[in-house]
Amino acid sequence: MILPLRARGQIHGALTLVRGDARRPYDRHDLASIEQLAERCALALENAELYRAAQRAIVVRDQFLAIASHELKTPLTAMLGYARLLQRRNQREHLLGERDTRALKTIASQGARLEGLINLLLDLSRIETGHLEIATAPVDLRALVHRLVEDTLPTLDQHTITLIDTGEPLIIIGDELRLEQVAQNLLQNAIKYSPHGGSITLNIAHDGADAVLSVADQGVGIPEASLPQLFTRFYRAPNVEAMHISGTGIGLYVVHQIVSRHHGSIEVESSEGHGSTFRVRLPLRGARLS
Ligand code: ADP
Repeated sequence: MILPLRARGQIHGALTLVRGDARRPYDRHDLASIEQLAERCALALENAELYRAAQRAIVVRDQFLAIASHELKTPLTAMLGYARLLQRRNQREHLLGERDTRALKTIASQGARLEGLINLLLDLSRIETGHLEIATAPVDLRALVHRLVEDTLPTLDQHTITLIDTGEPLIIIGDELRLEQVAQNLLQNAIKYSPHGGSITLNIAHDGADAVLSVADQGVGIPEASLPQLFTRFYRAPNVEAMHISGTGIGLYVVHQIVSRHHGSIEVESSEGHGSTFRVRLPLRGARLS
């Protein structure tokens, strides 16, 4: 018996069966059951082909993401560098009038925003391709958080920041820039998702073998149904979409990946309309990793 392997109108090959015993030829019943087998084989072959095509498409997407974000970053870095240079010269030498100074400020701030988005895409591409590198050096978490708060305070007019710090040394083995990115992301989200201002509380403490950083805001909060999906790629809660607060849904995914690569964890508590608290735990230097 030779049966075509046909699935969704396409022939993927043929199934050939040969019986050695010439006295017992195949009958109708054999044909019917083998037809069923051929149908299943064809379906399995088609599924395998679809799976291979999907895998290939993912590789192409990741390559595109890596190339596009890298190629966008190079010219932007030069443009942003010159815009900042001009800003500094303008401050020193008062070259521009008020309107042009404002225009230059917009170029620099929108350029910085674009740079942030491109960096997120680059991180996403690094994670997808397994190239997110994490340095392993001692990092002083207290100093890092204090620095971040000091740098952020002058940029705020509607929000206040309270930093609660027990003063104990909190040394982590990890990547300073990446840990700064985690704290920065949580703080910027706390600001962004409190559109009417309010107080933001950062707390750094020691809990057993862990350092704990929490960032609490009194903003729009997160619907309960969204909490389990919050750290997945591109996820944005429906309340912030409805309020037209812009974002990509990449930041928390990257934060989660960075924290995991430091053998830490991140959790969130929130009540919609009342605010959110994000809590990051990181093993302290000398802590045993399980
Ligand atoms: P983005 O802010 O660019 O959308 P994130 O990955 O940083 O992306 O956050 C994912 C989603 O989590 C946000 O879209 C928002 O729905 C929710 N979220 C994060 N932080 C907060 C917060 N402090 N308050 C309320 N919602 C938040």
